[in-house]
Parts: sequence; C-alpha cells; structure tokens
Amino acid sequence: MSALDSEQLETKVIAWRREIHAHPELGFQEHRTSALVERELTAAGIDTMRMVTTGVVGTIKGTRPGKTLLLRADMDALPLDERSGESFSSTSPGVMHACGHDAHTAMLLGAAVSLAAQRDRIAGTIKFVFQPAEEGPGGAKPMIDAGVLENPRVDAAVMIHVLPLLETGVVGWRTGPMMASADEFRLEIGGRGGHAAAPHLGVDTIPVAAEIVGALQRITSREVDPLENVVLSIGTIHGGQRSNIIADRTELTGTVRCLNETVRTSIPQRIERIARGVCAAHGARCTLHYEMGYPSVQNDTRLVNLIADVLREAPDITRLVELPAPRMGAEDFAYFAQAVPGCMLRLGVAPPGERDPAMLHAAEFRLDERALRTGVSVFRELALRLPAIV
Ligand SMILES: [Zn+2]
Ligand SMILES: [Zn+2]
Repeated sequence: MSALDSEQLETKVIAWRREIHAHPELGFQEHRTSALVERELTAAGIDTMRMVTTGVVGTIKGTRPGKTLLLRADMDALPLDERSGESFSSTSPGVMHACGHDAHTAMLLGAAVSLAAQRDRIAGTIKFVFQPAEEGPGGAKPMIDAGVLENPRVDAAVMIHVLPLLETGVVGWRTGPMMASADEFRLEIGGRGGHAAAPHLGVDTIPVAAEIVGALQRITSREVDPLENVVLSIGTIHGGQRSNIIADRTELTGTVRCLNETVRTSIPQRIERIARGVCAAHGARCTLHYEMGYPSVQNDTRLVNLIADVLREAPDITRLVELPAPRMGAEDFAYFAQAVPGCMLRLGVAPPGERDPAMLHAAEFRLDERALRTGVSVFRELALRLPAIV
C-alpha cells in the first residue's frame, strides 16, 4: 500500500506545506501554524492538547495494547529574507522556512490524519508532537518539563529532518552521535587605555585577543583526542574606539560543538585556562561567560536497528542509507533522546540529478515536494509497526 491512501492526501500535505511556508513564524510565535495543525487534527477526530503556548500534541490510541511512540515535527522558521523564487514564498519579510520545518509539520500532519481512520491497525499509542522554537530558544525542553513524555509514558521518540545533501526518496540513518552539542561563550578582555602612540603606557587588548584566538584552536588540535570531534569557532570580535586609542576592552564570542559529553564539559575550563594564561602574560585580565546550549543528539542503537528493519520494507522509500558521519549542527530533539530512546532520521529533498542544491539556512533553500510522500510513509510505517516491537 502506498504511504498516502489517496492522491488527495498527498495534495493536502503539499498544500499545508505551502500554506505554512508562505506564513513562516519564529519560535514561540507559531500561532497561525499551530492553529492549522490543531484544526486539521481535530477535523480528523484526533484528540489534541496545547503545550507551552504554541506546541500541539495529537494523540491516537490504537485499538490494541502496545508501547507509546512519540513522533516529532518542529514548526518554527528562521529570521531570513527568502530568495528561493518559489511561487509560495514567505509573505513575512525577514522570516523564512529555510530549515524545512514547514515540510516536517506537513508530513507529520499527513501521517496523523491518514492514521486517524486506522486505529485498528495500531497497537499502542502514538503521540504526534508539533514543537515550537527548535531554532531557538528551544521548545523541546519546555515540552518535556510540561509532561509531554508522560501519560502515557513515552517508550521511544523519532524525528525526521530534511537534508538537501540526499536525493528525494532517500532516508538516512545512523546509530550513536547524530548531531553535535552547541554551546556559546563570551570572553571579556580588559587592559588599560591610552594614546596609541605610547603603547608602553597601556595594556593593549587587541594583540591579546588575537593571541587568544590562535591559542584557543590548540584545544581542538592539541588538547582533545584527535579521534574526538570538536569545533571551536570565534564568531565576533569587538574592541577599540578609534585608530589612535589603545583598546582597553575587547570582547570575543564563539561557539563550541562536540559529540561527546565528557569532552564537552571539559571545554569551558580549557578556554578559561588558556585565556587567563595569555592575559596574565601581557598584564591583561579576562572574564569568561559560558552558556551550555542543546546537548548532542545520540541515536539509540537498538531503536535505530528496529527502525531500519521497518523502513527496509516501507513504501515510497527508494533507498535507505547508513550515514557515514554525524553533522556538527545542533537539534533540540537531543532532549527527547536524552530522556527516552530516540532516533533522528534524515530525509533527502534534492531533486535527483541536482548537483548543487542550496543548503539549509540559505535564503535560496528549496526542497523537492515529492519527498513529502517519503516522509509521510516513514512516519506512518513507524506508527503502525514500532509500538508492537520497541
Ligand atoms: Zn535549522
Ligand atoms: Zn531544522
């Protein structure tokens, strides 16, 4: 049987995706999107519940007993001016669905609506979670804190994220690390101002900052096991007032990405030790502000293997591929995967033959809507088969 019971459902899913795409909303402002989700779930006879303002949870209880599966889609867009050239481009200047969350929402909605009439084929309970604010500040953790994993207790959680590096029809999986943690830091360097023609009378924070930028890269190249993956990037440097004044303050900000939690928690001390050491060498001082963001997504091995088995026999998937490596981006689904066995899957959205597709978060990003059929099939097959075996 095809993933979509009828051509009409595929048409509906595409129409929802376009409707959401044309009206993108930022994190915790997804009012129009969650109203659409609620309306369609309710029309299909699915019980819905609101959570953390714009989050929506639809629940289908099967007619037979079984485990509880959580399927998750994110709904928010990015602060970006769209240049995709699509006829249904964003009507909100400065806001764009450039990460495919419009597709995630439409696919999960399609699966839910098509399963609503097939409760007799479901053993267990399916929670369809439409989550706000994945792009920040994060909606997964507030939903978990509000109890989305309880009543009934969730046994496994699965999400799909589009990926333009894969062709339409392809579904990618892997066990273990899937996405990186994303932490941020700000380093304030203090010195002593004065005339730039008399540097010996001040403490210039500009060369100190430059040395710190270089020295911090030794963390990834010399301090951490070379088989671990860590990215440390300085994103901004702000210092100084004028060309002939010694800068008494310079501020650096950066991000740190890791796949291993032990390595991750060691990084703040390493940054602080190096920054303080360089500052001390030059008579400067510094303060580090470090903020832990999303943890890394760790795919549960047993769950992933069960899922791969289910998807090997699923319709509308041309190829199931084991992804060779994680990506160093972040995903707040990590909180679900920390709390219960979790699996993040990748869905190809590049038209076959497309050599240079625009990437996620690019103003030019567009996806092949034929991939929506594959995504709906993945959600549907997992809902039908996973609760009985997980
Ligand atoms: Zn994104
Ligand atoms: Zn995303």
